[in-house]
Amino acid sequence: MLNKQFLEIKSKKKINLLNFNLQKMINFVLQLGEKKFRAIQIMEWIYKKNCINFKNMNNLNSSLQEKLKKTSIIQLPQCINELKSIDGTIKWNFLFNTEFIETIYIPEKKRATLCISSQAGCVLGCKFCATGKLGYTRNLLVSEIIGQIWYAIDKINQYRNRNHILSPIKNIVMMGMGEPLLNLKNIIIAIDIMLHKYGFNFSKNKVTLSTAGLVPAINKIAGKIDISLAISLHASNDYIRNMIMPINKRYNIKMLLSSVRNYLKKSTANRGVVTIEYVMLLYVNDYKHHAKELACLLKNIPCKINLIPWNTIKNSSYKCSNYNRITTFCEYLKSKGFVIMIRKNRGSDIQAACGQLTGI
Ligand code: SAH
Ligand code: SF4
Repeated sequence: MLNKQFLEIKSKKKINLLNFNLQKMINFVLQLGEKKFRAIQIMEWIYKKNCINFKNMNNLNSSLQEKLKKTSIIQLPQCINELKSIDGTIKWNFLFNTEFIETIYIPEKKRATLCISSQAGCVLGCKFCATGKLGYTRNLLVSEIIGQIWYAIDKINQYRNRNHILSPIKNIVMMGMGEPLLNLKNIIIAIDIMLHKYGFNFSKNKVTLSTAGLVPAINKIAGKIDISLAISLHASNDYIRNMIMPINKRYNIKMLLSSVRNYLKKSTANRGVVTIEYVMLLYVNDYKHHAKELACLLKNIPCKINLIPWNTIKNSSYKCSNYNRITTFCEYLKSKGFVIMIRKNRGSDIQAACGQLTGI
């Protein structure tokens, strides 16, 4: 029986079901005049059985399949190119409407990390970042964020079925194009789908959101979202951070670290530890006295530090710190008891490394 709500939905544009977390899916099936458990079944088809064709969802009766076909679609992003690096990293270029977006698969021996984008371009304009130089186009929809993960998992499964040796995706990092906390409404729903047992069911320790330091948004998500947090600090004092990250003029280091403490108080993900990202820029932020300043700043914050050798981008006068300066910096912080690692450069031959993403 077709009810009034169903007819109303049918008259609108088809809805992409990849935009829905479980709660939204429940609301949707109720509007179709169906029972709540149908929402769980649909989620399971999409996320557990990797099935996006209503016809193949064989525990849904034909009348529901028909209603779904009339009102909704399950539409993946359109992949327009795939590049493989000599180190095994894979970059997918997607076309979303008129915007180009990138997603990166970074394999280790047993597990892989998927680096996803949250915006087309970025408005924050960090001086060392290629995405920042693009400027801002728009926020990605939930379906576009989730579609990147769905596509990547499916593609890797296809390769594995053809006996390619590729590690399964176990980690998601929101470190691709854009600033996730500027797309908060959609990111919150997308994270729910990533973590939910009827969604991708990732562990909260394995989903990381990296931010340049949107202090009010960090305070807002504290206690509401519990995933691993990474902070792009990149400087040991406000003078340098103002120079390389304009957002610091709005929210300085003190405000930022206080919001991080607040987040950590309410989070158990990653054992209550934040990751501090620090890009190594030659003669800018890589002196021994910067390492000392950093040790002081972070002494009361449960953290691990990631030193990121700067990846070259076009039209930039920055240089990456040399090996000696990076190891001296690293050893000093280690001697002060910090857990610290130097991030491996992955995929730079296909412009897939941190900060190199421009969508083309
Ligand atoms: N907007 C978010 C997430 C995307 S950037 C953020 O800024 O945190 C992911 C990481 O790459 C950030 O730590 C960012 O500062 C770093 N990054 C940007 N450009 C880089 C470059 N050219 N080389 C190395 N790391 C870079
Ligand atoms: Fe935007 Fe992050 Fe690049 Fe800064 S580093 S411009 S916040 S994507």
